[in-house]
Amino acid sequence: MLADEIKQFLHGDVEADDATLTKYSRDYSIFKVRPQVVVFPKDVDDLKALVKFVAQKKAAGEDISLTGRSAGTDMTGGPLTQGIVVEFAKYFNHIKQISDIPPELPSSAMAKVRIAQDGVEDAGFAVVEPGVYFRDLEKELTAKGLLYPAFPASKDLCALGGMVNNNSGGEKTLAYGKTENYVRELSLVMADGEDHAIKPLAGDELKAKLAEPGFEGNLYRNLYKLINDNYDAIKAAKPDVSKNSAGYYLWNVYDRETGVFDLTRLIVGSQGTFGLLHEAKLGVVKLKKHSRLCVVFLKDLTWAADLVELVLPFKPESIESYDDKTMEVAVKLWRQVLGSMKGNIFSLGFQFLPEVFMVLRGGMPKMIMLIEITGDDEEKLVDELAKLGGSIKEFAKTHAGIQVRELRNEKEEQKYWTIRRESFALLHGNMRGKDTAPFIDDFIVKPEYMMEVLPKVNAILDKYKKDLIYTIAGHPGNGNFHIIPLMNLSDPRVRALIPVISDEVYKVILQYHGSITAEHNDGIIRTPFLEEMYGPKITALFAETKKLCDPLDMFNPGKKVGGTMKYSEDHISASAS
Ligand SMILES: Cc1cc2nc3c(=O)[nH]c(=O)nc-3n(C[C@H](O)[C@H](O)[C@H](O)COP(=O)(O)OP(=O)(O)OC[C@H]3O[C@@H](n4cnc5c(N)ncnc54)[C@H](O)[C@@H]3O)c2cc1C
Repeated sequence: MLADEIKQFLHGDVEADDATLTKYSRDYSIFKVRPQVVVFPKDVDDLKALVKFVAQKKAAGEDISLTGRSAGTDMTGGPLTQGIVVEFAKYFNHIKQISDIPPELPSSAMAKVRIAQDGVEDAGFAVVEPGVYFRDLEKELTAKGLLYPAFPASKDLCALGGMVNNNSGGEKTLAYGKTENYVRELSLVMADGEDHAIKPLAGDELKAKLAEPGFEGNLYRNLYKLINDNYDAIKAAKPDVSKNSAGYYLWNVYDRETGVFDLTRLIVGSQGTFGLLHEAKLGVVKLKKHSRLCVVFLKDLTWAADLVELVLPFKPESIESYDDKTMEVAVKLWRQVLGSMKGNIFSLGFQFLPEVFMVLRGGMPKMIMLIEITGDDEEKLVDELAKLGGSIKEFAKTHAGIQVRELRNEKEEQKYWTIRRESFALLHGNMRGKDTAPFIDDFIVKPEYMMEVLPKVNAILDKYKKDLIYTIAGHPGNGNFHIIPLMNLSDPRVRALIPVISDEVYKVILQYHGSITAEHNDGIIRTPFLEEMYGPKITALFAETKKLCDPLDMFNPGKKVGGTMKYSEDHISASAS
């Protein structure tokens, strides 16, 4: 048995019982894929031994592979496999260092390049293992007045390994960017079964690396050639949106003008398809001491894009939104919502009364927009909030259907944040006879196209309203929307709609030069659409890149490269909850 063979050499644990395999067959996607075995490695030697073991078997023609998994909150099927799951949350869960001194870079020129590219200056850094839950890192950073700003809405559930491998982003991405903007160094065990510390290189260091013998030198040489040979096509392929998690980000690796070659930019967001990540050094920023929230209720979507444009000069840290259906679900499931909020359930319950009355009167706004501003000087911030609120009220005088509330304290804010962050988790498993079906859950277009694109997407979904209802939440500041259909996945006819609707929606998104995924990544659900998004030349370069990094296709096969619609359709679970 495979598990017995692995037990011979692994210091960590090996499980192949039915309960374990069933648990690891699922993430938060619509898929169910049963692994052969789940391993819980204890140290880097375990990772090296696993890769060497699998490489030997692969070379002998066996169908075997390794798929990393941290917290398993992926919505794409990314951590699901028929091979070996390598679980990092059990043992690789240490915060190794937190510093309030910015990380050293190989050269000051490189620091300037990075700040120019990312628009952020590090106030410090954290060195973490992949199984560290974000909530634990957040606690420690907050105590030191620091913030890792590229966290997802799943911040209380997910871990750093998945955040790096999915290139996660969230409510603060508008102001601070995504995970790719904070990765300073990554350590992973790659296809040669050895540990590699990857960081940006330039000048003599890059020259030395390109001349190095062995797997790493070879990889740098080959990738350098691949990027140089296809330089213009690769740069032109970069999606014209503020955030993207689709494909391999070849355009970010090398820049002829700056001379910086940064392989971390390829590994971030690669869904574990290049190796097993065991350590990440991440930049962090200074935490602003105070925040204030302005809540805007829009009766319809007519003015949503204009409103975003109006508030952007106030430099909000977040512009988030959710729709009437999300609010209705939150009102229906208010007990669970309150469970996610800290405090006395009874007194919190009263906070929902205005929304309950709104639902009863049928007057629920179509979109609820949250605009957050932050600062260190509370008095100044309160002034800013009044100006922001005043300017929206002025706008509302000439644009119908807009109401605004300036919230005075954090307690009041909590309800809105909980609904926004927990909307998917709330729907998941709580709607009788309907499963959450994230498959068009993360598209993005430039914000100026948002009001053309949303009605077109709604019109597509409305054609199928006999079989689905859906909620919309998102990041209108970036033009990024999370549409979560609720459908009966036990019905094969309904399951068959998933590829059909995906195709129709993505055609619209790509007409507007958007991306099929801004944050959640490709996984099983979107890998088959990458060619439609990038065209055959760039997808062939993705395949070549994968081959250079992982010649035996050992790491998370079928994600990013080689995934088919048939595999995707065959593995949709008859029940997503
Ligand atoms: C309620 C909810 C809300 C969400 N909101 C957001 C959001 O706002 N923004 C966003 O970006 N995402 C969001 N997500 C998706 C998901 O939570 C994030 O992408 C998260 O960062 C994944 O972290 P994880 O540790 O759970 O990753 P996992 O699910 O464990 O893994 C994610 C991917 O990384 C790979 N991987 C993980 N660890 C390793 C490792 N050590 N080595 C190699 N490969 C590895 C896996 O194979 C998989 O492909 C949401 C999910 C839920 C359930």
